[in-house]
Amino acid sequence: MDRSLYLAYRPQTFAEVVEQEHVSRTLSNAIETDRLAHAYLFCGPRGTGKTSTARILAKALNCEKGPTPNPCGECDNCVRIRNGSTMDVVELDAASNRGIDEIRKLRENVQYAPAEGRYKFYIVDEAHQITKDAFNALLKTLEEPPPYVVFVLATTEPDRLPATILSRCQRFDFKRLSSEKLAAHLTKVAASEGVDIDDAAVRTIARAADGAARDGLTILEQMMSFSEGRITQEDVVSVLGFTEMDVLCALSRAVIDGDSVAIVDVVDRVVETGRDLHQLLKDLAGHFRDLLVLSLGADSAELKALAPEARAIMTEQAKSLDRARGVRLIDVISQAQGDLRWNPQHRLVVELALLKAAECLPTAAPAAPAARAAAAPPRPAPSPAPARPAPATRPESTPPRAEAPRRTPAAQATPRPATAPEPAAPSTEVEHEPVASPGEVDVATVKDRWPEALAAVKRQSVPVHALLVDSMPLAVAGDVIVLGFSHQFHRDHCAEPQNRALVESVIRPLFGALRIDCQRAAEWTANALAHDDGGSDEEGDSAAADPDPDAFIRQVVDMFGGTILDQSLT
Ligand SMILES: [Zn+2]
Repeated sequence: MDRSLYLAYRPQTFAEVVEQEHVSRTLSNAIETDRLAHAYLFCGPRGTGKTSTARILAKALNCEKGPTPNPCGECDNCVRIRNGSTMDVVELDAASNRGIDEIRKLRENVQYAPAEGRYKFYIVDEAHQITKDAFNALLKTLEEPPPYVVFVLATTEPDRLPATILSRCQRFDFKRLSSEKLAAHLTKVAASEGVDIDDAAVRTIARAADGAARDGLTILEQMMSFSEGRITQEDVVSVLGFTEMDVLCALSRAVIDGDSVAIVDVVDRVVETGRDLHQLLKDLAGHFRDLLVLSLGADSAELKALAPEARAIMTEQAKSLDRARGVRLIDVISQAQGDLRWNPQHRLVVELALLKAAECLPTAAPAAPAARAAAAPPRPAPSPAPARPAPATRPESTPPRAEAPRRTPAAQATPRPATAPEPAAPSTEVEHEPVASPGEVDVATVKDRWPEALAAVKRQSVPVHALLVDSMPLAVAGDVIVLGFSHQFHRDHCAEPQNRALVESVIRPLFGALRIDCQRAAEWTANALAHDDGGSDEEGDSAAADPDPDAFIRQVVDMFGGTILDQSLT
């Protein structure tokens, strides 16, 4: 094999472009009726044929027997375009040539008539990467292009192009290839290469390629050099390690189960493969969106394109989601996407986001060991606030506690009713009924009614409310609500006696006589993880992978400049 499969099997005619018939048909009609645009925008996921289609369009217009929707592929112009040796087709990768200078050069070049064919083509790949100034320079050319110029802007992210550019382009949306179409394509390529491959192996490659023909061919090529003789499903899995869909489903499973050990474990595997965590979060947001759509009993084009196995798994997972929780999950993930921009600790941001996402969901009963880890309060951490005695109003009827007090409430948490009411709209007129006596309220109830608490605090003090919105209730331990803050500054100020007193006076009528314990969410969560490590394990699943919580805690400590309390961890 002297060149890559991707290049060898690059489509050379509109008919050969897989699954983009809507694009091919419209372009063919435009050529036949001589209604060409001077600027096209090709949008869609990577590896779906955008630049290949642009080159086919160039051949169709410059073929010596054309313009024709079916270029001959044999004349000098067709051959030169296929070889990339023509001066009439200029390909610019905006990822590396994104500045004003490149666009100025392009504008000068545009003035010269085509050297060989009828038209001059400018194919700008990854067009969303062009800088603002360069876009402005390009705009002038797009407004009054010479009659012999055709622009094709290709992009995976059309939303990032300025509206002024978008409005001057005829837009085509390229579809992600369905697994079946891609599998059929790979089977055809394998056959013409004389490669023996299992159907199951082809399907796994197609699924791993996630709708991108280029990726599918690259994996197939990898498999061809890996396997001697027939390529089997086992070969593919052993080379890939795991597929994209498997990762997303494993993460959503772990989040839905509240399985923090599994979350850390899967993120670990992802990091090991060098995968981009920005992309992972983006994919996860899309994945949770798909789950939400499924949980609502709806459908979408993306879901229809899923492999049946993946769809079955996701449908099963979607049963554990409802609208409110699905929206909260997506919200947590999008916040983390924002955090990645300023926080260099990408792995930690992703792990915390997923642990936080798991907190959004009630843990299913009976809880898995890891689910308990997420719910269990951590070792006591030093707090700047002076310890205060329990309020005198504590009822005598508090049930006796079998374990250490800080662990008990989570274990005793009463199950939530299946139809938990939506939090009431904040209103000054509302008389709040305490939901429970201290020691009886559970964290799910506190979370459910937390918007009420926030609204009540806001009515009393906007500054304290501003501190409090950075937090979320993490646990209830005895008569104490543990509040996790994202930022140290907010935590410290909320923990000041007068602010804490204000918050407590507001939550008392809501949740009974309770105090608050202000914590950093990151430290608390890490402590909760460490707390569970080496603890009793009823499931006895010793085969589970060890996520190395020590490394996790060290990262937390590095990030926040804290100290590790338990010497055994160092
Ligand atoms: Zn030709």
